[in-house]
Amino acid sequence: MHTARKALPAIDPGRCTGCGWCVAVCAPHVLSLQVQGESGWGPKRSTLHDADGCTGCALCALRCPFDAIRMVRVSKPKAGA
Ligand code: SF4
Ligand code: SF4
Repeated sequence: MHTARKALPAIDPGRCTGCGWCVAVCAPHVLSLQVQGESGWGPKRSTLHDADGCTGCALCALRCPFDAIRMVRVSKPKAGA
């Protein structure tokens, strides 16, 4: 089992422009640009697609020029997934 505590990036889709900087700096490649929601169309926003693979390094939050990523402590890696 993974460690029970870490921080995960919470991306604010209202602030994210889809510029892709966070995707570029994420070493384990767990961020990607994806269309939000079920409709299958619309602007792409940064998405954490593999919470287990995220190391919690916070580079994405530091790199985001639009202050769209907040690191949020979670007690279990799979909480809310
Ligand atoms: S760096 Fe910020 S604005 Fe750019 S895609 Fe990532 S979350 Fe969105
Ligand atoms: S905290 Fe680090 S590992 Fe996790 S999504 Fe951001 S850049 Fe990637």
